[in-house]
Amino acid sequence: MATASLLPATIGSAIAMTAIVGVRYLATSGLFAWITGRVRPGHHAGLQPQIRREIGWSLLSCAIYGIPAGIVAWGWQARGWTRIYRDPAAYPWWWLPLSLLVYLFLHDTWFYWTHRWMHRPALFRIAHAVHHDSRPPTAWAAMSFHPIEALTGAIVVPALVFAIPIHIGVLGLVLLVMTIMGVTNHMGWEIFPRALVHSRVGGWIITASHHQRHHESYRCNYGLYFRFWDRVCGTDRGIAEFISAA
Ligand SMILES: [Zn+2]
Ligand SMILES: [Zn+2]
Repeated sequence: MATASLLPATIGSAIAMTAIVGVRYLATSGLFAWITGRVRPGHHAGLQPQIRREIGWSLLSCAIYGIPAGIVAWGWQARGWTRIYRDPAAYPWWWLPLSLLVYLFLHDTWFYWTHRWMHRPALFRIAHAVHHDSRPPTAWAAMSFHPIEALTGAIVVPALVFAIPIHIGVLGLVLLVMTIMGVTNHMGWEIFPRALVHSRVGGWIITASHHQRHHESYRCNYGLYFRFWDRVCGTDRGIAEFISAA
């Protein structure tokens, strides 16, 4: 392909991916905001100005997530970049579930350490105060990030697909978990069953009860999917009270 047609192709893919991420955000956050209104009427009453800010920052983040993802998706299709594969038998069957865990764990590790770093006072004011402006957060805050914070999150999966083989279906699952947990963790109430949240497994995974405490207390519960790093580093302060009141 000539250089002249390369640029429009990558730009077109970046715009298409931005639109996909944007529609995904509006549909998922919209759905869970609607569910919140049904199961907790009035829970977010009076928060309309905050919700408008959350949507504005989130839509900007959609472009920051969509551009690198769109360029990598184009490179995968047109140039054979990345280690994304289509044939499930290309690697041993156990790599399918293991690759899901590896991707989530590496994303979680990156998130934990960059998130802790962004809680240093000088950087917090610049890059992370936007996310904590949601008091309390709502389902619309799922992608409410300052562009610097959005950039740190946007590069993770596009970088990993160059290094670690992943089936296209498993990659879809990674993105699904990322989307659902990003929204439900900010809803201000627990959607997962009490039996799971308070179970042995629940002690290692992050749901709204855990992330809500981060938004209340700031300097604890930094993780994204797993409580592993919070536990190892002594920053886990347990789960928020609203779970027991629910
Ligand atoms: Zn948050
Ligand atoms: Zn934070």
